Amino acid sequence: MTVKNAIDKKAIRARYAEEREKRLRPEGNDQYLRLAGTGLSHYIEDPYMPRVERDPVIDHVDVALVGGGFAGLITGARLKEAGVQKVRIIDKTGDLGGNWYWNRYPGAQCDTASFVYMPLLEETGHVPTEKYAHAPEILEHSRRIGEQFGLYEHALFHTEVKDLEWDADRSLWIVRTNRDDEFTAQYVTLGTGPLHVPKLPGLEGIDEFEGHSFHTSRWDYDYTGGDPSGAVMSKLADKKVGIIGTGATSVQCVPHLAKACGELYVFQRTPSSIDVRANGPTDMDWFEREVKEPGWQQKWLENFTANQTMGLRMPKEDLVQDGWTDLARRIRGRISSLPFYKMTPRNIMAAFEDLDHEKMTEIRARVDTLVEDEETAESLKAWYRQLCKRPCFHDEYLQAYNEPGTTLVDTNGKGVERITNKGVVVAGNEYDLDCIIYASGFEVNTDQMSRNGFDVTGVGGLKLSDCWSDGMRSLHGIHVHGFPNMFIVGGFQGAALLSNVPHNFTESGLTIAMMIRHAREKGFKEIEVTRKAEDDWLKRLGRGNSRQRAMQSRLLEKCTPGYYNNEGQQGGLASEVMGYPRGAVAFFKYLKKWRESGKFKGLEFR
Ligand code: NDP
Repeated sequence: MTVKNAIDKKAIRARYAEEREKRLRPEGNDQYLRLAGTGLSHYIEDPYMPRVERDPVIDHVDVALVGGGFAGLITGARLKEAGVQKVRIIDKTGDLGGNWYWNRYPGAQCDTASFVYMPLLEETGHVPTEKYAHAPEILEHSRRIGEQFGLYEHALFHTEVKDLEWDADRSLWIVRTNRDDEFTAQYVTLGTGPLHVPKLPGLEGIDEFEGHSFHTSRWDYDYTGGDPSGAVMSKLADKKVGIIGTGATSVQCVPHLAKACGELYVFQRTPSSIDVRANGPTDMDWFEREVKEPGWQQKWLENFTANQTMGLRMPKEDLVQDGWTDLARRIRGRISSLPFYKMTPRNIMAAFEDLDHEKMTEIRARVDTLVEDEETAESLKAWYRQLCKRPCFHDEYLQAYNEPGTTLVDTNGKGVERITNKGVVVAGNEYDLDCIIYASGFEVNTDQMSRNGFDVTGVGGLKLSDCWSDGMRSLHGIHVHGFPNMFIVGGFQGAALLSNVPHNFTESGLTIAMMIRHAREKGFKEIEVTRKAEDDWLKRLGRGNSRQRAMQSRLLEKCTPGYYNNEGQQGGLASEVMGYPRGAVAFFKYLKKWRESGKFKGLEFR
């Protein structure tokens, strides 16, 4: 019998609803703890580089880039290419790299193919060594970009922006930081990303544990031994370790912990879906022969996005060929096989659902083939639609549960009950531990300004938090009326491409550099979007997205809770994601035409 024939749709839907119900919590996002400024703030201290004392900086730069991750790196590089000299990155990290600075846990690697995930490959000449590069290579690449484009020269690390204030008399921004810096910048960009503030579960007794503990984004190699390249964590050989959480991070580090720990307990509330990874080294001869040509990375980026996003016209070629493109191509193939007269929204959604059930049935069956203990295998099966949570791909995670010292502690959707001075309690059983590792993720659906740790004060004292109190407002996700010379480097209200976030930055970074170059060449001091252009853009997004948004919220409201659906409550990330109605490929084409026309319609240059 084929997978397709064996599917009992009604039973699956009922099981999904039952599993979701178990996990819904009235407190939603408030189940998590905020760490900054609390008794738990040691969990966010930097274990990787010492904070070097320095004098406050009081000077002027052309552009201040808030955030030294890919958003800041790409924009900084494009600005340098455009001839802008004094570019300053400011970051709370001790070096460039953003998330890749923090996430050095063993096994960390990108889960979108390196050729499209790692920016500026052609410009730097770096060829990723693996289909999915590991974290040390990505961090090194961030440094490479910094070195090549001179982004270290004015950078301020271990520095948090506390305030950005528009000075209308001088047409520039005043930037204040937690290191008493107060400098001015003609332009500012915000590339702070959504996943940079670690959170902990709000568990009773969390501050009472007497063993060692840390969050995955602050891995304590002094305690564990080993290193980010995956060397064995020899200091754990006689330790009982518990890890709380089974999201994308945990999936990558559990195989390493399972090999190293005397005993490992994985505390699971919701299993991730784990599809095939099939990583491997890059064949450099193949790269030289088949891939390398001027413009190769842009071609790969566009091909991935065209394959991955949902337009009905399927590209002939799939250069990346991985779980993401396969999933999208299968959905599209199924929908486009409907006869034209049957292509109604209802039938499209039904075809999508059928395919999802087939895929998830395959993924659940994969668990049985890889996990020896039947009960453990049963608990590792994900009962929700694949895109309800970040889909995971891994070829060693499930097998880790065959290691004799590794135990899955399934909490049946309830989560860990509490922490004691000795360990972790689940269903009344106390697990004595030497170390607790929190793989509990990052703040996503909290208020953006408080997550960033600063607000922005624009024209006439207008705060960005007030301007956005009813939701984000922008043109192209880049400009906000009332905030001249400020640009956002993100994806929301633009392409909103989530499967390969750096592609959003590639396009917005280039656009920002071209606008600034234009203003400098023509002698303008200010760039601002008009209110009308912003309103028109929002109307366009709203109109075009209304059906799509309705479908998306119908899907998400049936999903198991997580950060994709604001822990099962209204609002949150999904309501901000809104992108260009015709999709990411069309948005990138539109934006290219917009910037290359040289007219920058909707902006005022003064
Ligand atoms: P997640 O938010 O995805 O996972 C947090 C985990 O903690 C979940 O399994 C959650 O369970 C669990 N949890 C929370 N509270 C409790 C509790 N009380 N008891 C037991 N378990 C609990 O965080 P991650 O760090 O794993 O991933 C965050 C995001 O970072 C990913 O979605 C992805 O976007 C990105 N990422 C990307 C990677 C890459 O590109 N290579 C690698 C790793 C992460 P539940 O699911 O029930 O809420």
